[in-house]
Amino acid sequence: MPTHLPPRSIALVLGTRPELVKLTELIRLLGPAAHVVHTGQHYDEELSGRFLTDLGIPEPTYLTGIGGHPRAVQISAALAQLDALFLAEPPLAVVVQGDTNAALAGALAANARSVPLVHVEAGLRSHDRNMPEEHNRVLIDRLADVLCAATPENRDNLLAEGVAPELVEITGNTVVEAVHSQLPDADERSAHLDELGLTPDGYVLATVHRPENTDDPAALRAILTELAALAADVPVVLPLHPRTRACVEAAGLAALLGPLRVTRPLGYRDFLALARHAALLVSDSGGVQEEVTVLGRPLVVVRNSTERPEAMADFATLVAPGPALGRAARDGLALGAAGRARLAALPSPFGDGFASRRIVGLLSELAATPYAAAA
Ligand code: UDP
Repeated sequence: MPTHLPPRSIALVLGTRPELVKLTELIRLLGPAAHVVHTGQHYDEELSGRFLTDLGIPEPTYLTGIGGHPRAVQISAALAQLDALFLAEPPLAVVVQGDTNAALAGALAANARSVPLVHVEAGLRSHDRNMPEEHNRVLIDRLADVLCAATPENRDNLLAEGVAPELVEITGNTVVEAVHSQLPDADERSAHLDELGLTPDGYVLATVHRPENTDDPAALRAILTELAALAADVPVVLPLHPRTRACVEAAGLAALLGPLRVTRPLGYRDFLALARHAALLVSDSGGVQEEVTVLGRPLVVVRNSTERPEAMADFATLVAPGPALGRAARDGLALGAAGRARLAALPSPFGDGFASRRIVGLLSELAATPYAAAA
């Protein structure tokens, strides 16, 4: 899909693992037109450095002094550096994805320099004002000139807030093509499971990293207690996010990790290989809620709220930390082979795998039109 966009004319501002996953295919399709700008919000090698190389993302321009700082400092430091960058090298359009501080900084910087802004994954709403991500989403959607909604529900959320319908396109979610292109083939998956001594459909895969679960020692204890109890019946693999590891240690909960198969954060391909054959996933991740719908696996979502209700219809169950987690996990395991086969046959509510292509088309149109800020 060759584009006629000039080299480095589309700035993609990102800073975290899920943004890398979900913008990979768009960056590949844009080829030399893509200028990847990494804010360094995730500065850990396992969440960013190695991840970039594995996904084949070209060397980004890095901002400095952002990772590990409070939210306001991250946003303001990134904004100042992006402003200087866009002055020196004005892009034809800025693309941001999702709801991170990096994405909000990118949106504000585009707005400040009158560069058209494209928001990938627009219109998600948890309606939970305790989540900083919810504020980031709403603010980015107010600033965006092209809003790429993954689903009709996302579009409806935007229209209900008064966003002009002509600014919104239903593209699908780019995670669908990320899963299709990054999932290792059957032989590689089976070799990976063998290495870890796991059998297909014979284990649970868990991830925990959201502040509502990690920064509250009672919630963290409740989640790890339930996972440890589950591990008495079935292996539970937990790739441990660095912030979660730090919180487990600070809260004195390391003993609860004993029954679990704790690993370092996995590369995306390895994670997908394990997710594809897990009997059940337990997670508080946003992206995992979408990925299970492509992989056809059941999921227990441990969170107070979700901005992805589409996953709840068939694939996922939302629970708060505590005994409800254990009950939902046992119900999910009880689905058995027949239940998993039913899920695997359902289409993903998040799209058809062509979202990135549609977004390239929108970018080409945008670059060919003189810029007028959205009404
Ligand atoms: N992921 C990964 N390795 C892991 C855990 C997660 O590659 O060890 C992937 C996961 O498949 C998803 C993304 O990281 O695509 C989600 O990132 P995260 O949970 O940090 O962010 P969220 O989606 O909640 O914003």
